[in-house]
Amino acid sequence: MNRPTEEDLQLVHRLRRQNVLEDVASHKINGNGRNVVIMCSDGHQSPDVITSHSRFLQHNGDGECCCHSHMLNGGALLLSPMFTETMKLPVREVLLHQIKQSLSLKDINTVALYVHAPCGAAGLRKLSFIDTLVCLFDAKFSLKCHFFRFKKLHVSCFVQIDYGPKKRTYFISRSKWESWIRDPSYCM
Ligand SMILES: [Zn+2]
Repeated sequence: MNRPTEEDLQLVHRLRRQNVLEDVASHKINGNGRNVVIMCSDGHQSPDVITSHSRFLQHNGDGECCCHSHMLNGGALLLSPMFTETMKLPVREVLLHQIKQSLSLKDINTVALYVHAPCGAAGLRKLSFIDTLVCLFDAKFSLKCHFFRFKKLHVSCFVQIDYGPKKRTYFISRSKWESWIRDPSYCM
């Protein structure tokens, strides 16, 4: 199994210190226990992502847990026009169609976008961890634009890191990310 590069790990540690990558506060996750989850199909990581996100949802609301997941290589990266612009197949459009159907079928109003490191699909495109985060928020913006007519859609972003001996999931907010990317010396 791959491990994050030393450079990526240093960035992860820095973002943790600056509280840009935050511990997940289950009670802040929207959706009353129901989320559409967009995640990478990486078989070494997806069980941990599903288990962790289900636990977050169960700690939220009345205990209902509907982790309605869509898994493809790259996960949320596939919703980023920056990531998909050179793809020959309309993967982003298919995923958008599936999300719309899921929101309706399960009466869900919240989408959880996941990326992870190290990610093979990101690696194939030579994306660093910082590139991956840029694409994650490009995906969020694109999703919000696509569904802007949809009843109050919430979109939350998460990052899973495989450190080797342990795996951890973090929440990352758009506001903190944008402050950080404008000024990486920015300290929370
Ligand atoms: Zn992956």
